[in-house]
Amino acid sequence: MEPFIKKHEYNAIRKYLRDLNSTFRNCTDQKIIETHKANIGENILHLFSNLSDDQRALIDISALNDSFSIDNYISNLDHYVYGMADITPVAIRKVFKKEKKLKLPSGEVLTSKKVYLGWLDESIRKLFLIYNLDNKWIGMACRIPNTNSTNTHICTLCNHVGKEDEVTFVSPICKMSDPDAYKSIGFHICLDSEQCNERITSTEKLEKLLKTVNNLS
Ligand SMILES: [Zn+2]
Repeated sequence: MEPFIKKHEYNAIRKYLRDLNSTFRNCTDQKIIETHKANIGENILHLFSNLSDDQRALIDISALNDSFSIDNYISNLDHYVYGMADITPVAIRKVFKKEKKLKLPSGEVLTSKKVYLGWLDESIRKLFLIYNLDNKWIGMACRIPNTNSTNTHICTLCNHVGKEDEVTFVSPICKMSDPDAYKSIGFHICLDSEQCNERITSTEKLEKLLKTVNNLS
């Protein structure tokens, strides 16, 4: 069977199963456990449309009854997960034509399964992000302003809560049809894109942001 689970869908399944695992551990009422499991099974099915019978059987969770079986299920599912398509350094440079001294992400980052490609250039305080939207590469170069904030923030993409050194405010450089026009937006995002990619369960906000920044909506 070919990979059919997108990385963010896999993250969503993992998140549901962490919930189920804690029910297994903390609940003794078999009826409550079964109800919770049935709900989670439905939620997982709803992540997909047009599943084949084999695919449906693979994601079915009705046989899961303990932490051990959950772990097995998750590691088996990993074989059917696919991330963003591979991108070449040439294509990366094309997305960020205006960045004069673009530092490319490491090869390791390039090969992992991911929802989006993100990397940090500390020397110029910018976070770069690339995503494949409808078979086209789009990206954003986000400036990281200096702040002394000690507050915690929530990542817009994955909802992770962290202090400034984990989740920071960024301001992407927006493309405008009128070269003299200026648009300023900002949002909070994880500095560690690899971790963010392990947590993100929906691409809705990411796509909306990228469309705004690239003047596509
Ligand atoms: Zn995040």
